[in-house]
Amino acid sequence: MKICTICNLEKTIDQFPNLVRSPDGKYPQCKLCKSNIDKQYYKRKAEKVKSNANKYYKSKKDIILNKRKNNDHYKIYNKQYKQLHKEQLKEYNRTYKQQYKPIRNEKRRNRLKKDQI
Ligand SMILES: [Zn+2]
Repeated sequence: MKICTICNLEKTIDQFPNLVRSPDGKYPQCKLCKSNIDKQYYKRKAEKVKSNANKYYKSKKDIILNKRKNNDHYKIYNKQYKQLHKEQLKEYNRTYKQQYKPIRNEKRRNRLKKDQI
């Protein structure tokens, strides 16, 4: 017979779970109390895991929100840049088109040839 350290009831040795490293080879708690302890432990663990996941999500959320904010900043900057350099951009686009017009035409011609074949 053995007394459980949790419920203080005297129970037969077969009502205690096995524990190799203990002197009598049994847990100090009975099977019933041990299972309750385990349940509580896993419950606590689950809550910890949940809270960790929550923390991770929150930190990730911050990053996402930050990114979005930065993106907005970038958009505003782009808009401002376009407005400030309207003429320059127009000029750039014109020269770009002129520069690549022959190449584009060449490509188009080649494509047309391919289509004919
Ligand atoms: Zn017990």
